[in-house]
Amino acid sequence: MKKLLIDMDGVISDIYTQFIKYEQEDLGITQTAASLNGKLENEAFRNHDNYVTSKGFFFNAPPILESINVVRQLNDKYDLFIVSAAIQYPNSLQEKLDWLAKHFPFINWKQIVFCGSKSVVCGDIMIDDHFKNLDSFNGQTILFNQPHNFGKDAKLHTRAETWAEIAKILL
Ligand SMILES: [Mg+2]
Repeated sequence: MKKLLIDMDGVISDIYTQFIKYEQEDLGITQTAASLNGKLENEAFRNHDNYVTSKGFFFNAPPILESINVVRQLNDKYDLFIVSAAIQYPNSLQEKLDWLAKHFPFINWKQIVFCGSKSVVCGDIMIDDHFKNLDSFNGQTILFNQPHNFGKDAKLHTRAETWAEIAKILL
């Protein structure tokens, strides 16, 4: 079985919905695609660091459309791991575990990898929304569409706009 590594934030967890909601409540600003596209999250959201360290930010993020259904099917076909650089925000660790248990209960604890840099992980296929993680990976790479990577050359990575597209590539 091929080893498949799947990121959380911006791939199965819709943290942009959270950022937009938090900023509306915090500053009364409602950002649109035009103001978000091409900027990293911490460039697009002025109070980014406050939001990601707020209790509930990660736990209350909605799952990305169709991800649960497709990941469930991929889980039967691949040696699947959820790989998140959760150490960056230590408060996120328990929330991310609880979030996975709530939305992806078919993922067992041995399939969850919380790390710092992802340059240490290896496998056959990686799905991630950040170039910094995909560029150092020695395998097939799928770039998941998110506002921060919008309009950027996907280089050697295959860009997927939706989970339906990932299903077409991997199922
Ligand atoms: Mg991500």
